[in-house]
Amino acid sequence: MEELRDRVERVVRQVVRELLAAGQDLPELSGSRGRRRLVVANWKMNLLRASARQWVEAFPESSDRHCQVVICPPAVLLWPLAEALDAAGRDIALGAQDLHPEAGGAHTGEVAAAMLLEAGARYVIVGHSERRAAGEDDELVARKLAAALAAGLCPILCLGETAPERERGLTLMRLRGQLDLALAGLGHPAPDPAGLVLAYEPVWAIGSGRAAGADDAQQAAAFLRERLAELFSFAWARQVRILYGGSVSGENAEHIAACPDIDGFLVGGASLRPESFAAIVQASRRQAAGKEVSR
Ligand code: PEP
Repeated sequence: MEELRDRVERVVRQVVRELLAAGQDLPELSGSRGRRRLVVANWKMNLLRASARQWVEAFPESSDRHCQVVICPPAVLLWPLAEALDAAGRDIALGAQDLHPEAGGAHTGEVAAAMLLEAGARYVIVGHSERRAAGEDDELVARKLAAALAAGLCPILCLGETAPERERGLTLMRLRGQLDLALAGLGHPAPDPAGLVLAYEPVWAIGSGRAAGADDAQQAAAFLRERLAELFSFAWARQVRILYGGSVSGENAEHIAACPDIDGFLVGGASLRPESFAAIVQASRRQAAGKEVSR
């Protein structure tokens, strides 16, 4: 049975590649048509209530039809930030940095999806490499992803290769393994594609000041979208947003945002300064608006 599935997969992949090579039908799989950009700040374990409020006051951007802006603060700041954004009339969504896979119970120190929702989160980062490095395995990532979807939170699933994997040419294999295992428990019907986000985050690029080149980021994102198409359908895969994360800055964002399969960014370090995060949002918006004009 497994052998048969492998053979079918190989044939499908070949057909996809040939169609892509011939420029037929599938360009629609890439172009960002219909996908609203998404730029997400991952504050990690930084900022306190007062500095978070100052950040909001100093940040000049809001979401618009081209670009959705999301802040993922430490969980205890969700509630005060939701209040501050609401009071200031700012259209910026909130996300959490992690969740527990269970809906509730005896899990000291953990936070469940429903609690995050109640505190104002609409998104949640799942499988960030810093959590994977601290012991989170693919099975736990899959359970967290399923819990987020079941609760109505939009998971931002992080995937990416380490430096040694990249050096050994294993990037795409690693991405495929992480993606397949994370989605394995979802079954059918497929979840709403607009309610799932992937973030390609090469581990070696995170916090290193060395972002992936636009060509590499595009290749990884296109590969992930192709794999989603194999697992679900082309129409479905076209609607999933794929972000790039890893040392994104105001300087490199525009170039990467031009990639047809990259729909936005997950930003760590540069999101702590309102002006540098704003520059990334503006670069994404310019690309989205430019694409709209050129269509
Ligand atoms: C991250 O941790 O998700 C990240 C992208 O960090 P940085 O932007 O600092 O590389």
